[in-house]
Amino acid sequence: MEIFDSHAHYTDEAFAEDGAALLASFPEKGIVGVIGAGSSIKSSYAEKALAARFPFYHAAVGVHPEAAAEWKPGLIAELRTMAEGAVAIGEIGLDYHYDDGPDREIQKEAFCAQMELAKELDLPVIIHSRDAAADTLELVQKHRPRGVLHCFSGSAEMAREYLALGFYIGFTGVVTFPNAKKARLATAAVPLDRLLIETDCPYMAPVPYRGKRCDSSMLPQTVAALAEIKGVSPEELAAATAENARRLFGIR
Ligand SMILES: [Zn+2]
Ligand SMILES: [Zn+2]
Repeated sequence: MEIFDSHAHYTDEAFAEDGAALLASFPEKGIVGVIGAGSSIKSSYAEKALAARFPFYHAAVGVHPEAAAEWKPGLIAELRTMAEGAVAIGEIGLDYHYDDGPDREIQKEAFCAQMELAKELDLPVIIHSRDAAADTLELVQKHRPRGVLHCFSGSAEMAREYLALGFYIGFTGVVTFPNAKKARLATAAVPLDRLLIETDCPYMAPVPYRGKRCDSSMLPQTVAALAEIKGVSPEELAAATAENARRLFGIR
């Protein structure tokens, strides 16, 4: 089985000690691709450094809404340079989860500017949206980038809105949780050629690893759960999602 992890954070400090050894072991575990998502200017540089070390590893660069406090318009020029050799702009978006999180107007400004940069560079976007579904959709409909809505947690109706915009939808190990009925219903609404799988590691470990540090080698559990919902074999599900990731991110 060939597995493509479309969203991971191997620059997180959770991997500081053994991350490089772990990544080196992935080819023999069937992990054929990993997208390392930037979440700040600093982590985006770190993702690019990892991509330079491992041929199956590809970097996305961007400022996450939780890092929006560092946003200033001048960062677009830096990101434009940094995007050279990157496969996407991300992760970017809106996160209203914390009342004391970054100012929502600054989050929107950073999100919109980075969607425009992605369009200018003809790169896909990786969108993060938490507790901000209506505003995220409104801004995506306004700017019309191409890309993926990652770690999808919305309804089947919301999935259809993004599918209509040409988006891919990324699902994590959450689909393996016993109480994840909503995520499973949403998955059923996403055609096989628009589905991506992701760890979002070090978070979101699938059952039976729930609560542990997650990594891409745990994805077979997520593949099995999605394959059952889609009524295909795990091998087919893995192959289709790997092909989708290569198509979206322009990887050959
Ligand atoms: Zn995210
Ligand atoms: Zn992430």
